[in-house]
Parts: sequence; C-alpha cells; structure tokens
Amino acid sequence: MRKIPKKRFLDVAGMILRNKMAKEAIYPFYCSFKLTRRCNFTCSFCNCWHVKNKWTDMPTEDVKAVLDNLARSSVIVCSFEGGDPLVRDDILELLKYQYEKPWYLLFTTSERDMQQRYPMAEYGKYIDFLHISIDEGHKNLDMYDELEEYTKWGSIVTVQIVVTKNDIGALEQKIKRCQDAGVKAVVMCAVHLKNTKDHLPDLWSMSRVGMEMKRKYPGVIISPDGYFDRITWDHGCDSSSIIVDADGFLWYPCRVLEEKTINLIDSDLMTYLESDDARERRGRMAACDIQCAWYQYYATQSFVNPRELLSAWMPYYRDLLNKGKQPVFAAPAMRPVDPQAMIHAQILQETAMKGISSLDGLVELPTMESPGR
Ligand code: SF4
Ligand code: SF4
Repeated sequence: MRKIPKKRFLDVAGMILRNKMAKEAIYPFYCSFKLTRRCNFTCSFCNCWHVKNKWTDMPTEDVKAVLDNLARSSVIVCSFEGGDPLVRDDILELLKYQYEKPWYLLFTTSERDMQQRYPMAEYGKYIDFLHISIDEGHKNLDMYDELEEYTKWGSIVTVQIVVTKNDIGALEQKIKRCQDAGVKAVVMCAVHLKNTKDHLPDLWSMSRVGMEMKRKYPGVIISPDGYFDRITWDHGCDSSSIIVDADGFLWYPCRVLEEKTINLIDSDLMTYLESDDARERRGRMAACDIQCAWYQYYATQSFVNPRELLSAWMPYYRDLLNKGKQPVFAAPAMRPVDPQAMIHAQILQETAMKGISSLDGLVELPTMESPGR
C-alpha cells in the first residue's frame, strides 16, 4: 500500500471540519471515476453498457487532466471504474500516473480470466484495493473458485457483491467463501437506474441481513454499519462522494438523478463545489425521497464520521497491521508458541469480534513525512 504525506491527511481533516461546520458535505472524500463505458458484461441492473458499441473513450491526456483536477481537491480515495477499466489499452500508463497522486486507489473489475489476459501482478503494484464484482447479476459466480489466485497480485482484495431482491438469501455462502479465502467483501444493493430492470432488494431485509452477516463474520464485510442503517432512512444519502463519468463530466448531486454539471477536464472541481449551483443541488439531494440505496452515497460518510470511524475501518485493521499486505489465509493452522505472538493473536481476535475499545488501540494509517519546503 502506498504512503501518503501526513500533510495530506491534515488538509483532508480540515475539510471534514469545514463540512461539519457548514452542516453539509461540500467537500467529497471519495471519487468514482468511470474510465470507460465499455464492458464485456451486460448486467441487467446497469445501463452503462447500453452505449458501448458507440462509445469512444476519452484520450489519455484528458483522463490525466481529470486526475490532476481530482488530486487538487479533497478526494483521498479515488476509484477507477467503468464499464471495465481493464479494457482501456492505456490502463498501465494511467495506473502509473495516478500512483503519484495523494490518495488510495481502488480498482473495480469483473473481467474473467484476468490472470491470463492481463499483467495483473504489474497492475497490482499501483492498486491499493482491488475490487472484483462477483454475483448472480454479473453471471460470474464461478469466479469465487479463483479468489486465492487474486490475492497473489499485491493489492488488498475485496469481492464486490451486488444484492438483488432475489439474492439476499444467497449472501451468506458468498461471505463465508470470502472469509475462507482471506479476502474482504463489500455488500451493496442493486440500484434501480433509468432503463434497467428494478432489482432493488427490500431495504429493511437487506439492512437486517447485512448487519447479521457483519456480526457472524467479523472483519470480512467492509460496508460500514452506517450503510445498512441509512438505507432505511427517508434521507440517508449525502455528497461526501462524487462520480465522474467516462466523458469527464461530473454527475452532481448523484449518478441516479443523471444530471451532469461541469467537465473536470477543464473546470476546477473545488471552485464548482463552492458555487451556488452546487449548493442548490446538494439542497435537492437532502430533500430527495427516492431512497435509491446507492452504496457510495449512503456509505462514505461513515468513513469520516468520528462516531462511526472504528466500525468503518475495523475490517482493514489486520491488513494495516500487516503493512497493507493481503493476508493469504484467514487463521493460522497451528497455535502460535511465542507468548508475544499469542497475545497479539488474541488481541486481533478480540478486536475483530468486539471492535477496538479505547482510543489507544487506534491504528495509524501508513504515512510519510512531507518533503521540506
Ligand atoms: S460489469 Fe459492471 S459496468 Fe459492466 S455491465 Fe455489469 S455492472 Fe455494468
Ligand atoms: S436518494 Fe436521491 S439524491 Fe440520494 S443518491 Fe439516491 S437518487 Fe440521488
């Protein structure tokens, strides 16, 4: 996992504070950047592939301009998505380019036979969190057989599980499989987008089952408790995350409403976020009663809310102790004999079950001193 200058965390903390004082999420911390609309799948809950035969990707230099813009903003987690970002020919160049930016990179794909078709170990050098979508909707459940393979590429691996109204009952076996393979799972609802079938699960059932799975398989599911709580609220979303489309335009306040605003190739994101237009859109978001349950709009705030911080970061605890390396097994085969190792194992077990009980136990994220001015 890359190291981010401490100063960057301080700057972002300042922006969290400004959001808090303004009582609205002016500054986002998470950005999904759709690098393309091309994809080899045709999931029925997704509409991005509807244009795939007519779609021309943004030139490399324009993508870089968007990345520069995001790096000047409050975004500290950037997510490469699509379509499928792996289908871009320049993906290695983009991965290297973003690696110089002050954020963690998440990379989402659902491609089959990745190890045969792409230099994943090379890509993995520049990816902090590799998310692989595997579920009934993607019709790729056979990829659960390859989870151990995915952990060899150097990134922290998370299986992204999109749950439809028909699949809530099948969630547990997937979580169990992730636990056995020592990978994480992010659980989210299949959102009803324009021109797609309505697969949205019953939100109360989803909330109950999600929390049940978190209790039963501690440390596996990274979707924060706040997500499973807020999806049942009348107004649970907020703008602490943003989505940039594959043409560089910012969807704002959200992707579901399908309203595009500025183009990040040539318009400054931070200036826009402080504008009257952006404020008016956030106001509409706060009043929206669609209850779409889109993961990032309902979950991101948990990662910066002091009351939810521990629950949100807990699943990463062991990985951070492990210096960001993917654990290759879920539990040691033999009891550790070194007393220090035994105590350490016990703390890991207890904190995974109950959470960290005192602030002394907080794990520092990997950082480095900023270069002198
Ligand atoms: S794999 Fe992802 S981008 Fe492709 S069609 Fe399915 S949901 Fe859409
Ligand atoms: S509830 Fe409304 S404003 Fe909020 S993310 Fe969904 S569609 Fe957008």
